[in-house]
Amino acid sequence: MAKESVRVRFAPSPTGFLHVGGLRTALFNFLFARHEGGKFILRIEDTDRSREVAGAEENIIQTLKDFKLDFDEGPVKQSQRLPIYKKYADELIAKGAAYKCYCSAERIEQLKAEAAASKIPFKYDKKCLTSPQPSPESERGQYVVRQNIPEEGSVEFEDLVHGKIKVENRTLDDGILLKSDGYPVYNFANVVDDHEMGITHAIRGEEFIPSTPKHILLYRAFGWSVPRFAHLPLLLDKNRKKLSKRFGDVAVREYVEKGYLKEALLNFVALLGWNPKTTREIFSLEELVSEFSLEKVNRAGAVFDIEKLDFINRQWQKKLDLGEKDPMFQRTKRLLEEKFGNLTLEGVWPLILERVKGPSELETRLPEFHFFFEEPEYDAKLLIWKDTKSQEIKESLQKSFELVSNFQFPISKQDAENRFFEMIGDSDKGLFLWPLRVAFSGLRNSPGPFEIMEILDKDTALRRIQAAIEKL
Ligand code: GLU
Repeated sequence: MAKESVRVRFAPSPTGFLHVGGLRTALFNFLFARHEGGKFILRIEDTDRSREVAGAEENIIQTLKDFKLDFDEGPVKQSQRLPIYKKYADELIAKGAAYKCYCSAERIEQLKAEAAASKIPFKYDKKCLTSPQPSPESERGQYVVRQNIPEEGSVEFEDLVHGKIKVENRTLDDGILLKSDGYPVYNFANVVDDHEMGITHAIRGEEFIPSTPKHILLYRAFGWSVPRFAHLPLLLDKNRKKLSKRFGDVAVREYVEKGYLKEALLNFVALLGWNPKTTREIFSLEELVSEFSLEKVNRAGAVFDIEKLDFINRQWQKKLDLGEKDPMFQRTKRLLEEKFGNLTLEGVWPLILERVKGPSELETRLPEFHFFFEEPEYDAKLLIWKDTKSQEIKESLQKSFELVSNFQFPISKQDAENRFFEMIGDSDKGLFLWPLRVAFSGLRNSPGPFEIMEILDKDTALRRIQAAIEKL
C-alpha cells in the first residue's frame, strides 16, 4: 500500500546512448518508486540541441524496456514544452527573481577572460539587472533570461545521501535560464518540470550537487515546495578516478553485446553505491525492490570493478542455466564462427566456462581454445617433458598412438584416463600425459589430454599424435 505518494523521475539528456551511470540512476529511481508504491516517470531533457545524439533517445527508452524498468508516465519531452518555460520565465521576471540580459557574446567572453586572468570563478556582473535595455552591442534586441541570485544569504538542504549541504549565495552565478532561441537550460527546465510533474524526490548523480542550490532558489522564488534530493555517489574506475560518461565502453549496450546477462548487469549496477548491509550479493529485480532503501546508499564513490561484474554474471549463469541461450555462449560461438565458420561449441563450452571468468576475458582468452577447431602449431621443444630425451617422448607418443587407435570414440574422459593409467603403470605419468596434451593443443596451458579427447574425433586425435611424432 502506498505510504506517501512518491513520484520520482529519470531525466536523461539524449546526448548519448544509455551508459552504466544512467542505468544506475534509472534503477535507483525505479526501485525507490516500486518499494514505496509510488510512480516512476521518464522525462527526456532534450533542450540542448547542440549536444543531441541521433538515436540516443530511442536507445535510452529501449534499454529501460530491455531491463524491465517500466515507467508509469512519459516519456515527457522538454522540447515540446517550450511555451511553458517561457511562461514561467516571464513570471520570474515579474517577481524580480530573473531578468533579461542583452549582453553580447563578446562581452560575456571578455568577462570570462578577465575572471580567468585573475583566477576567480566567472560570475556575470548583473549589468542588465539595472539597465535591461537592448544595448547597441546586442544583436537585434536578442536577450537571454538570467536568474537573479540574491547577493546575501545562503541555501541549505538536507541531502538524503550526503546530509546537510550549505552554500553561500554570493558564490553562485546569475546563470542563464532561457536562451535567446527560447530554449530553457537544464537548471530551469528541470525545476519547472519537477514542480509541474509533482516530483517528490530527485534522485540523480552527484555531479548535480553544485546545481542544486540554484534549483532551490528557483523553487523559493516561485513559492513552490522543494523536492527532497538524493545524490548518488560517483562511479569510479579501479584507480578511483571518475568514470567518464564519454568512455565508449561504459554504454550499457556494449555490455549486453559482450555477453553479460541483463539480470547480472542490473544486479551489479544495483551494488554500485547501494549497500544491502548483508553479505548477500545476488538479487533479482523483485528482490531489489523489496530490499532497497535510500538510507543504504553510500556517500563514498562506487568503484566499477569488472571482475565483480564477471563474478555476478557467473552466479546468474548458474542460476538461469540458459545453455545455448546464454548470451556469453552466443557471443563465444559468434567469435569462433567468424574465424572458423559453422561449428558446434557444445563440448568445448564447459571447458571455456571453467577457465574464462566472464565476458570481459572472452576475447583475450578465446585463442586458448582455437585448437579445438584448427590444427595447433607449436615448437617441437614444447613436447619435451622436464629433462627427458626427445627419443623417450617419441616412444611415449608412439605408445599413446597405439592405445588411442584401439579406443572407440567418443570416449569419456574417465574411460580414457583409466586406460591410459593402466598402460602407464608405475612409469612417469608426465612422460606420457605432457606430450599427449601438447600434441592435441599445442599449448603450455590447456585442458588435460583426456578432457580434450572427449571432444576431438578419433581421426583428429590420431592425426595430431602422428604429427607430434613426426616433429621429433
Ligand atoms: N538531464 C540531467 C542528466 O542528464 C538530469 C539531472 C537530474 O536528474 O536532475 O542527467
